[in-house]
Amino acid sequence: MKVSRCSAAVVTGRCPLQDTPTRRYLNDMTAAAPETFESALRARAQAMADACTRCGKCVEACPTTEAAGLTPEERANPVEVISGIVDLVRQGQESNSRANDAARKWASGCLLSGECIKACDYGVNPRFLLYMARIAMAHAKDAPAEQRRAGVNGFRLVARDVSHLSQIQLDDALLARLGQGPNRPARDPNAKPDFVFYTGCNVLKTPHIALLALDIMDALGVTYEVMGGPTHCCGIVHMRAGDVAASGRLAENTIDKLSQSRTGQVLSWCPSCQVQFTETTLPTVEKLRGTRPFEMTPFTLFVHKHLERLRPLLRRPVPMRIALHRHPGVRGVVEAAQDILRAVPGVELVDLRQPAVGLQSNNLRVLPEFRKQLQLAELDAAQAAAVDALVAVYHSDHRELCAHERERPFRIMNLYEIVGMSMGLHRDDHYKRLKIMQDADAILADCRDLVQKHGLDAATTRLAVQAMLDEQPAPLRESRNV
Ligand code: SF4
Ligand code: SF4
Repeated sequence: MKVSRCSAAVVTGRCPLQDTPTRRYLNDMTAAAPETFESALRARAQAMADACTRCGKCVEACPTTEAAGLTPEERANPVEVISGIVDLVRQGQESNSRANDAARKWASGCLLSGECIKACDYGVNPRFLLYMARIAMAHAKDAPAEQRRAGVNGFRLVARDVSHLSQIQLDDALLARLGQGPNRPARDPNAKPDFVFYTGCNVLKTPHIALLALDIMDALGVTYEVMGGPTHCCGIVHMRAGDVAASGRLAENTIDKLSQSRTGQVLSWCPSCQVQFTETTLPTVEKLRGTRPFEMTPFTLFVHKHLERLRPLLRRPVPMRIALHRHPGVRGVVEAAQDILRAVPGVELVDLRQPAVGLQSNNLRVLPEFRKQLQLAELDAAQAAAVDALVAVYHSDHRELCAHERERPFRIMNLYEIVGMSMGLHRDDHYKRLKIMQDADAILADCRDLVQKHGLDAATTRLAVQAMLDEQPAPLRESRNV
């Protein structure tokens, strides 16, 4: 067949329609757009929504639908609730008028307990679907510029508090041990440690916990490189605000840094980082790049896996009645923590028979009254059971609970303090010591030397200290006049 050529194209060397709006539209429609983090995440969410059969079992299994505000009628109709979630994920902003109110309440009140994941027989991750529904809701609520602003402001607050609260507790040498500050060691490009220990950001506010984790790895003879802090952001703050593109850029940057160790194994401290990376970011980057950059394991599951190596190091008896503050969001961590505590000679583990929900304490902030009542009930139960210590696994639990030691007849401790006591390892818990003062002036006076040494701005340090004091979901008795 003879194809005649357009004379204009022959003369000018270019198609006269090339730059018309119609041509550009057709080009946009037909060109294979390079996949971005956003488009890859959207595609994963759509595929997950498509795989959902809307059986409703995840809604039935969720321990907090009532606390999230679903009425008895709404809870009696789980199929409708999950259908609203699937609509939100599929149609995003357009579904706003269609997705049911119950679905929005459920998504907004999700504490990331993960019971829904266990309930699904179809390999769907309802927790991920709810996250994507929340992002669709954030997109509907705010314009992109506002999403960006909220993400940046939220990140600045985290960075301010992490940086100042860690510096008022640690000297340069200990900051460097946690991969922070001017003296942090330069990376040895030839080193091949067993693991990267990824602190995330917020554990640096309670640095004694992260330092004990490193001490325990040293005792186990495990080699590691420490990475974390605001320069290694998981992107969760931006994503919650709806700024998926910024979140993807930050997370990809951090993934590239964590991949540099060439170990392929990352130990995570923080459960929020664990869920953000393993359920949202890593599978999306894997879809983009075709390979999974590394595997990520929660630190407590790592310790549990090496319990037989740890056991001979647990030499000193720790004669304490201990209750474990539990959050089940990362599967296996509660059971692992119980096994680790039982391995410590002298420990008597007491079951307070309190509900265990959520990923960690600060994930319960979406239901503040529920969180407050849970914490007060647990503190009262611990007192009634005459425990020596209420012991938590995660850093945000410690931050929210530790000031109660001021007025309760038991200690608030971290799991690895107990393990450390048995191993002869100790790190001072300056965070609790300072927070128990309940007085910003007294705290700043106590930390004056380190504030000067690190050249911190006094006014900004005060803001970070005040934020520490304000993080008190269950008020102390003295402020409740009890
Ligand atoms: S996510 Fe799973 S459990 Fe929930 S409705 Fe869909 S298929 Fe059923
Ligand atoms: S993660 Fe937890 S709170 Fe969220 S939907 Fe699943 S079970 Fe409910």
